[in-house]
Amino acid sequence: MNNKNEFSYREALVQARNMLKRMNTKQKLLNHENFFNFDINKCISDCIGRCCINTPVMINVYDVYNILTSVRGKELGYGDTTKLFDGKNAPLILFLDENENMPSAMINLMQRGFNLDICPFAYASNKDTNILSLFNYYHETADKKLYRMPHLSCGIHEIKPTICRSSPLSRMLIAEDERSFEFFYINPPSSNCPAINTNKKWRLEEYIKKWDLERFYKNRDKITEIFELLVEKPIPFRRKIAKKLFNFDKDNIDQGLDPVKNRPSYEELFRTIIELIKK
Ligand code: SF4
Ligand code: SF4
Repeated sequence: MNNKNEFSYREALVQARNMLKRMNTKQKLLNHENFFNFDINKCISDCIGRCCINTPVMINVYDVYNILTSVRGKELGYGDTTKLFDGKNAPLILFLDENENMPSAMINLMQRGFNLDICPFAYASNKDTNILSLFNYYHETADKKLYRMPHLSCGIHEIKPTICRSSPLSRMLIAEDERSFEFFYINPPSSNCPAINTNKKWRLEEYIKKWDLERFYKNRDKITEIFELLVEKPIPFRRKIAKKLFNFDKDNIDQGLDPVKNRPSYEELFRTIIELIKK
């Protein structure tokens, strides 16, 4: 039965357009049939990998699961969440976001001076070496211009976070009264991104399919229920939930239990945390 007062697509559309306006972008909302320009080959041929420099990258809980359970994640030594979140040089950090005070996580960019904050998962591919050599190369370069740097590649390409995977496509989920609508727009990775400034066209629907984005978006959206439940909760409790959500192996490790054998599935983790908040 249709309830006349239920949150409608039209109302969500107004909210999405207003959000775009607030972002001060010239970008328009796209539907699944719309096309946008993007040529991923330019990332290799015409760019140093700017996306991975000075760019804050938000991480969701599904991204963390993906890293931990992948061959690549294990090769890099990320066997449990404490390797991702604990310690000064951890590649990820968790916090409460400053607008809503909700549990959030992001990549902990490596700060090395010269206004170069670089993702710790990036490596200098055309030097066949690691990120530290990249910095050394940079320091040795006479005119210290970014274009003299070797090309950066993603060291976790097959399991990179949803935001990197989806880029340059951004998605907004507008939800109210248990109804939600998604909207897409292009978020140019940089003002002079060579991959955007091309004639290669993608239909939005094909792009989503190619990168299996529906699965990533769907899993990321699970957090919405937790945010709704946390609205009435005090800040210290939200901090506790942030740790349990993202650094989910820590409790088991602290109790001397094997984190891998005792790790809940993604669905179980969300169920347990929702029960804990509702208690
Ligand atoms: S800035 Fe553009 S061309 Fe460079 S890595 Fe990012 S998407 Fe690719
Ligand atoms: S995860 Fe990969 S694509 Fe994303 S910022 Fe880091 S190196 Fe770049």
